[in-house]
Amino acid sequence: MSRQILLCAISNVQSGNCAEDCAFCAQSARYKTGIETFKFKEPAMVIEEAKKARAAGAIGFCLVTSGLGLDSKKTEYLSSLAAKIKKEVGGLFLIASAGIADKDALSALKSAGIDSYNHNLETSKEFYPSICTTHSWDKRYTTCENAKSAGLMLCAGGIFGLGESSEDRKSLLASLKSLSPMSAPLNFYHPNPALPIKENTLTVDDALNIIREAKKELEDTVIMVAGGREYVFKERQIEIFDAGCNAIIVGDYLTTCGQEPTSDYELLKKAGVTPLTECPFH
Ligand code: SF4
Repeated sequence: MSRQILLCAISNVQSGNCAEDCAFCAQSARYKTGIETFKFKEPAMVIEEAKKARAAGAIGFCLVTSGLGLDSKKTEYLSSLAAKIKKEVGGLFLIASAGIADKDALSALKSAGIDSYNHNLETSKEFYPSICTTHSWDKRYTTCENAKSAGLMLCAGGIFGLGESSEDRKSLLASLKSLSPMSAPLNFYHPNPALPIKENTLTVDDALNIIREAKKELEDTVIMVAGGREYVFKERQIEIFDAGCNAIIVGDYLTTCGQEPTSDYELLKKAGVTPLTECPFH
């Protein structure tokens, strides 16, 4: 029987101008990465994207904002957007990714129709101060706990290839395990010359091992290979499925382009995996 895979899509509903200094992130205003910046994308445009994503087979649709956290304006904007998408586009599992957040703001998102909250721990607690000095790893961990206590499902993962050690990767996976996320996005750093981290030294075999380790440690979690898939795995993308990946992102990432959905479908066909047609979490 063909293995099944979950497809998700991302809408970058607010881009850039973030005051934080995360060394891997093109959205930080501290680095001149030249990305397009905007605040609060028009709802009609997001609804079109949601329809397109659903038509392309995506079940998860993630609304992503830039900036440190979920303030009242973002909560209001995302809540109104969620309600509109739920009304106009059927069959989508809605995820919000809006940074550090308290339980009240997350409860408001839940009431508006958001199903899950994405907040990545990014890396180990020990290595985190080497990649971000403007907010703490502990705040990230607490946000993940807040999402769960607000009744949202949790999508929490990290980013690899920042110069972290294998001990750091183990530590990150242990922290994620303690949160029992519903899904764990594994992002692979895509270097940008304007960012402080100049290269990603992971080999394809290193990256495949990261997926295997994640699958072993987080056995009940959906393992998603997210940003950097094409950049890191290149012509060996097909191997991610045997390594344990059971979800991918189709379409573009936040600040980098993905491959065309048709190339993703060819990849799935070649790998003998079929996209899930209904959300397994509802
Ligand atoms: S990861 Fe989030 S908090 Fe850090 S710079 Fe990027 S948008 Fe800002």
